[in-house]
Amino acid sequence: MKIQENISLKPYNTFGIDKKAKFFTQISSENEVIEALKYASSQNTPLIILGGGSNILLTDDLNALVIKIEIKGMRLIKESEEEVFVEVGAGENWHEFVLHCIEKNWSGVENLSLIPGTVGASPMQNIGAYGVEIKEVFDGLYAVNRETLDREYFGWDDCKFGYRESVFKNTLKGKYVITKVVFKLKKQHTFHTEYGAILQTLEEMNIKDLSIQAVSNAVIKIRQSKLPDPKVIGNAGSFFKNPTISIPHFERLKRENPTIPGFPNEEGIKVPAAWLIEQAGWKGYTQENIGVHKLQPLVLVNYGGGDGKEIANLSKKIQESIKEKFNVDLHAEVNFL
Ligand SMILES: Cc1cc2nc3c(=O)[nH]c(=O)nc-3n(C[C@H](O)[C@H](O)[C@H](O)COP(=O)(O)OP(=O)(O)OC[C@H]3O[C@@H](n4cnc5c(N)ncnc54)[C@H](O)[C@@H]3O)c2cc1C
Repeated sequence: MKIQENISLKPYNTFGIDKKAKFFTQISSENEVIEALKYASSQNTPLIILGGGSNILLTDDLNALVIKIEIKGMRLIKESEEEVFVEVGAGENWHEFVLHCIEKNWSGVENLSLIPGTVGASPMQNIGAYGVEIKEVFDGLYAVNRETLDREYFGWDDCKFGYRESVFKNTLKGKYVITKVVFKLKKQHTFHTEYGAILQTLEEMNIKDLSIQAVSNAVIKIRQSKLPDPKVIGNAGSFFKNPTISIPHFERLKRENPTIPGFPNEEGIKVPAAWLIEQAGWKGYTQENIGVHKLQPLVLVNYGGGDGKEIANLSKKIQESIKEKFNVDLHAEVNFL
């Protein structure tokens, strides 16, 4: 384990924020995780975990040991007539894992094509897109307990998945380093094409025979046309979660705003945060080199040289204006570091 000092984290976060880590190291095995935890505790330094840096906002230099998870490997560990169980290193790139599954003809993750980041971070917020969440293909994970240094296993129930939520963002926040994730994929394919513009895109692509490859291609096409590429404009995808409000609250808003979209769920009505932000006039807003994306109001952007604190302040202003206009609390999906 090689520890570097005063490293710029600009290449390691998709917002492209230029903040420094006091100590920085790349971790390629579970043993190195333990070594790093011991080192941080011997130096009395906090330890911060970094995957692909696609769901974080750096607001300051990190006076900490930042460990970038690079644990690799994809291994078929069990199979039946219907299913395969694949164990994947936390540092594998998520999209490359998706492509691997498609190549092997295993179904389940094709709708999650092109989501940036690592496999290890995928259970953190139960990543989801186009009607599918990883909880549907998740079997279990291995993680190192940061306090005891024990290796522990978490099954499906232990993770308490919710909408962009898991136990690792709540009661167990900051307590574990995820090292491997096991996924359960299907040999027989079921397609989820009803969500978003997938069917229409498949038609435009002139796809006659549906396949997981075709669904993945359609998802990639839609994502590339809708979302800013972090290599071009710094961003962390959706900055806020879509809020769920009570039915009476939704009905009140609907009387005043007849076009408000709403999707019933177990707790009430989910309202697209993008709609609220656009109605409050933030779409395309710019303030020096940061702003709200001109096509995707849910995406805050760094046009280059922007500061994490400014983005955090902008996000606060947006939250306040949504509260004032609609009496709705917006919660950040992005993790502030
Ligand atoms: C353009 C764009 C589009 C996106 N689209 C989607 C989308 O459609 N759906 C969606 O759900 N998300 C989306 N995201 C968000 C992001 O891709 C996911 O949240 C992704 O899982 C983050 O992975 P990461 O490796 O980059 O995590 P990081 O940003 O590095 O880390 C995120 C959090 O997880 C912690 N963490 C990371 N790895 C580990 C580990 N091994 N053990 C313990 N803690 C860890 C970090 O400390 C941090 O708190 C998008 C982001 C971008 C930039």
